[in-house]
Amino acid sequence: YSGAAAALAALRRPPAHDDHSLEVAARSYRVDPYARPGERYATVRALAAGGVAAAEALLAELKEAGLRGMGGAGFPTALKWRTVRDAAGDEKFVVCNADESEPGTFKDRELLASLPHLVWEGMMLGAVVVGARRAIVYLRHEYELERRALAREQEVAARVAAELGVELEIFVSPGGYIMGEETALLEALEDRRGEPRNKPPYPGVAGLFGQPTLINNVETLTMAAAIAARGAAWWKAQGVRGCAGLKFVSVSGDVVRPGVHEVATGTTIAELVALAGGVPGGVAVQAVMPGGASTAFLTADKMDTPLDFEHLRRAGSSLGSGAVVVVAEARDMLELGANVTRFFRNESCGKCVPCRVGTEKAVALLDEWLAGHAPEDTPELLRQLDRTLGQTSICGLGQVALLPVVSILDRLPPTRPLRRS
Ligand code: NAD
Ligand code: SF4
Repeated sequence: YSGAAAALAALRRPPAHDDHSLEVAARSYRVDPYARPGERYATVRALAAGGVAAAEALLAELKEAGLRGMGGAGFPTALKWRTVRDAAGDEKFVVCNADESEPGTFKDRELLASLPHLVWEGMMLGAVVVGARRAIVYLRHEYELERRALAREQEVAARVAAELGVELEIFVSPGGYIMGEETALLEALEDRRGEPRNKPPYPGVAGLFGQPTLINNVETLTMAAAIAARGAAWWKAQGVRGCAGLKFVSVSGDVVRPGVHEVATGTTIAELVALAGGVPGGVAVQAVMPGGASTAFLTADKMDTPLDFEHLRRAGSSLGSGAVVVVAEARDMLELGANVTRFFRNESCGKCVPCRVGTEKAVALLDEWLAGHAPEDTPELLRQLDRTLGQTSICGLGQVALLPVVSILDRLPPTRPLRRS
């Protein structure tokens, strides 16, 4: 039994829902501005009635709030919406990226299940601001219960959207990690093989069918709807320790109660772990991956780092997709690093050589190390591969594939010998 490997593998699988008569139970959250279902969509109706001035006011509000993309990259939301609004095109599109697949990440499924009205409203707000007539949710293929929740709410949302001249659709992803990369997703929507495109041009300028396309993560659209309803001042006041807003975080790994929490931005990693019941048996934390499998491991002395983009960047990692994975003492970090690397090797689409060959080479080196017959310069070879992949891969998968394992080499140097005598 390989505990660490099994824990990480389990993280990327959503729980099986064998009983399809089950429905997801919606929970209420602070971010929801609507106390009663009858009040929903008031914000987007007001925006549409307010014309150009209202659209500009919402862009200013999003900028003032400092909202950033919650899929992982943290791109400023107001700037993205502005880019699509200003871009010339025959038609424009809005796509909600709900193909949540980063290991450890399951916050969006909670939003889709509990707050589908805010997801639809965020998409409609985006459509009104950028001038799109089609808004599509691109949904992870395993999220069947969430699809049902979205579809139920779509019956209400579509009536409002029709008043605005916007069509709402759900498109189920063909499946696979890379299909959630924003340009691979566009290829899939165009009925082609889902491989990433070179960027730039960014989808905001040339996206679906070559037209300006606003692509945002589920949480980003949800938060945009909340800010539109309550304003930037309210948003900023929700954070703690000088941070702005609310954050949905999935916490998993070595915790008593893995799950999704809506927390004030600026909540520390330690506070989040306490919310999740701490580490089973009160064992000490060895390391934390604060933003999913594409982010660097932090050591236990960083547990007081507030969860927000800037604090985590300064600590040497990233907020990524809001997925805190906790690793207890006694876990074999090299095995864990090899497991993450294997994941990226398996999910590489193979389009570009550095990622296709480099991830395979890295896994081979790590397997040799685990077996005790690796070359003496293995750590340096892994660092070189990381630099090469970072500079030459065309999409985020290849660019970050070796980042977690290199962070282990740098911060938690494995004691396991390269060669057994
Ligand atoms: P990116 O930095 O290339 O882009 C981020 C966003 O900003 C994109 O939408 C991009 O189109 C836009 N953008 C960037 N520069 C722009 C410009 N000059 N003008 C207009 N728009 C611009 O990152 P990415 O490859 O889209 O995402 C990488 C991240 O995705 C990783 O950090 C990882 O954490 C995350 N990720 C998340 C999941 C998940 O399940 N949530 C899965 C895999 C990866
Ligand atoms: Fe495909 Fe990897 Fe290249 Fe991305 S970096 S396009 S996943 S081969």
